[in-house]
Amino acid sequence: MSNRSETLFAEANEHLVGGVNSAVRAFRAVGGTPVFIQRGEGAWVEDVDGKRYVDYVLSYGPLAIGHAHPAVVAAIAETAASGTSFGAPTEKETALAQLVKSLMPSIERIRMVNSGTEACMSAVRLARGYTGRDRVIKFRGNYHGHVDALLVEAGSGVLTLGIPGSPGVPAAVTETTLTAPFNDLDGVAALFAEYSNDIAAVLVEPVAGNMNCVPARQDFLEGLRKLCDEHGALLVFDEVMSGFRASLGGAQAHYNVMPDLTCLGKVIGGGLPVGALGGRAEIMDYLAPTGPVYQAGTLSGNPLAMASGIATLTELAKPGVHAAAAAWTERLLAGLKARADAAGVPLLTHQAGTMFGVFFTDAPSIERFEQVEQCNAERFVKFFHGMLAEGVYLAPSAFEAGFVSTAHDEAALAHTLDAAERVFASLTV
Ligand code: PMP
Repeated sequence: MSNRSETLFAEANEHLVGGVNSAVRAFRAVGGTPVFIQRGEGAWVEDVDGKRYVDYVLSYGPLAIGHAHPAVVAAIAETAASGTSFGAPTEKETALAQLVKSLMPSIERIRMVNSGTEACMSAVRLARGYTGRDRVIKFRGNYHGHVDALLVEAGSGVLTLGIPGSPGVPAAVTETTLTAPFNDLDGVAALFAEYSNDIAAVLVEPVAGNMNCVPARQDFLEGLRKLCDEHGALLVFDEVMSGFRASLGGAQAHYNVMPDLTCLGKVIGGGLPVGALGGRAEIMDYLAPTGPVYQAGTLSGNPLAMASGIATLTELAKPGVHAAAAAWTERLLAGLKARADAAGVPLLTHQAGTMFGVFFTDAPSIERFEQVEQCNAERFVKFFHGMLAEGVYLAPSAFEAGFVSTAHDEAALAHTLDAAERVFASLTV
């Protein structure tokens, strides 16, 4: 069988670091050669050999309405024909901001940026500037992009590659970053007891998507809100993944816990590079030009990205659309669980709207990063490669969440579950 991916990967390795532009894509955690994709349509991607896969990666979350949705393609093409970037205000920036605000009521003011990393980096600077305090609390296994100060016990690629933090991050930079176990309020309370007057913000992924998929406990988020209020710290939700996925209004709507600041990315760009930071006007107005905290970007609010985001959110916000994709996700997980049970493979599943996780474990529940680490990694690798061979594209790491789009239909479900039945059976032999 010809395999153009192998040839292309060998060539890519001559020119790109590790053959990729983002570490997890290199398949280091699962071995083998990354699949080179040549096109996507709806729920499916096609590799360079013409093999088709049901896609649960969806560019690691952004494609909430599937690949090459006609409304997104048209919006991008139409916008591009009038120019791609101006470095001046355009109407589309306000339009996307209004759309986001209509879905996430905790947001009064927004700053568009170019990635989730930038959103989190700016959130930390703003929280420090606004409160006049230096320390931030983050959680073990939560990932907030490759921000120096936040590359401490981070999830995602950092976990997969087993790098604790990263060389190149000076100790002085992470000195003010405090960490606590996810879903453990006592740990946070202890940090507040020790550093009360110096904690600027608590950053949390309300649905952790970089340690597989682990939703926060309701009482954990409510407790964080209370602790932040008591100690004058800002609560920052990193909804780069959970935004418009955990529910249409993100995790904050699902849990009904309102953060002071929200980091966004992924879905708001519909597959083009975007991030955003939003929150209470009084805090957001601390950013330049209204406030003293500096923040800027040549391509921030880029017209193509705004057009793609507007088209994506407009489609997703139509009545019943997000709910239908979440219901589909529920059927997927029920189907996977039933087939795993039938094959005698212990499996735990988590769902948060259109985000999901599967864990090869017989543990009754998973709430913390250490428990994710204890899952059967060998089984995940076999499952991953088995599904890939069957035409189902999952993230090449047991620490990444899975994603569903509104384009995932009956055919995609049947294909996935038939594949899973054969692959689960092969795991116990
Ligand atoms: N925060 C979270 C929760 C994320 O999942 C990610 C990316 N996976 C980021 C921040 C960083 O976003 P980006 O890759 O766009 O910089």
